[in-house]
Amino acid sequence: MQSGSRYHWHAAHTTRSARVSTGRFSTLTIYGIDEQQWKSLETEVVGLFVRLLQVETTNPPGNETGCAAVLREYLAANGVDGVLVGDLPQRQNLVARVRGKRPGPRLLFTGHLDTVPADTPQWTVPPFSGTVQDGYVWGCGATDMKNQIAAEAVAVARLARSGADFAGDVIFAATADEEVGVDCGARWLCQNRPELVESDYILNEGMGGLWLPIDGKQVFLLAIGEKAFAQFRISTRGTGGHGSVPEREHSAVIDLATAVLALGRYDPPAIVSPLTAQFIDLLVVDRDLAEQLKDPLRARAAAHVLRARQPEIAGLVEPLLGATFTPTILSAGQVVNVIPTHAEADIDCRILPEMTPDQTRAIVASVLDPLGIDWSFEWVDVTEPNASPAPTPLSASIERVLQRDVPDAVLAPMCAGSFTDSRWFREYFPEAIAYGFAPFVGESMAEMSGGRDHSPDERILVSDVTYQALFFERLARDLLS
Ligand SMILES: [Zn+2]
Repeated sequence: MQSGSRYHWHAAHTTRSARVSTGRFSTLTIYGIDEQQWKSLETEVVGLFVRLLQVETTNPPGNETGCAAVLREYLAANGVDGVLVGDLPQRQNLVARVRGKRPGPRLLFTGHLDTVPADTPQWTVPPFSGTVQDGYVWGCGATDMKNQIAAEAVAVARLARSGADFAGDVIFAATADEEVGVDCGARWLCQNRPELVESDYILNEGMGGLWLPIDGKQVFLLAIGEKAFAQFRISTRGTGGHGSVPEREHSAVIDLATAVLALGRYDPPAIVSPLTAQFIDLLVVDRDLAEQLKDPLRARAAAHVLRARQPEIAGLVEPLLGATFTPTILSAGQVVNVIPTHAEADIDCRILPEMTPDQTRAIVASVLDPLGIDWSFEWVDVTEPNASPAPTPLSASIERVLQRDVPDAVLAPMCAGSFTDSRWFREYFPEAIAYGFAPFVGESMAEMSGGRDHSPDERILVSDVTYQALFFERLARDLLS
């Protein structure tokens, strides 16, 4: 299946990008550079990328310093001085800056160096081997997000090598501690060394750059905001006793089950922000269904229809319609023959930038109060959601550069469902525009089964990580021209 999609892609790619010169010798150009230049770019990007994948940065404990040191060495060899800074010696961040020849805005390329743990027995190749095979680079962090780190570093090196003929500054920050805990990485930098990373435009990860084929177009996601955690715990109290005498009226366990069922099956009131409405218009081809989805009163029913017809699009649209309640941890009782007096459930709840934690708590009460159970509520983890505006000069530049190379590309600004470090940059530097975007041009989201982050056999097409480096370099030149 992997090689199938590879060959499919190469065929499409060649058709899209090949240009034959009128001279005696034909020249193949790939995304506007000749084959030899492409090959040398590929060698440089993949060489650095593989070295990053080979340094294990599983978080916890992270140990990102080894990876940051690889980047510092690579950049130094290209004339760019980087500094290692951080709270702990084993969890350093790498920050580097290339100054342009004229004053102008600051563009920060950033990303995290840590990865989630690899479920090694499920992998086809050793997860920290940095294997290159079947047209892919494989490894834990191959799409989340050592690919983007390598591509950004190569873009920065190429800008520096070429004489840095641009306005403003290009900053590169490869950070620790994103996957669990947020103490040593981007937030630490914003708090303790703001002068190193404060920027006008920030490019990071976060679903952006994945695409879907829709109506003859390649619709690329652009993450301009993200939902926030509003994770909470529901506790129930009841009458304890001997397991041989059922307690049906005041059972903490039965009441908790009732609460979990009610929340897990509940569709919170729909919110359709202008951003979500625009996203629906780009993704849902059936105009009737799109109109229903944009009407808060009909959106939930329409989302059920969409889920049955196009689950991959529903998976992108539905979380944008409001809070999500996902029960994940249940606990009650110690031994099988004693009825416990207490039970609790943790609910992974994510809320939109348009919502507040207080509103969310009120929604939970509106679901649980009518059930007639003895319940209480406690926050587990709460962050404030945030988002950057769009369009901006950064989104215009992303679109311009992408459409030059991928003529059918359309950008779809959206709010990502999961946490990224962009929220810290937006919080500490309220004027900054922070987006998630790294183009995976060769494979659609469907071909990537929705995305490969946090999965066994995490891998990226060699040509995609190579193109990402070219894209970031072109983006800097376009935005800072
Ligand atoms: Zn990530």
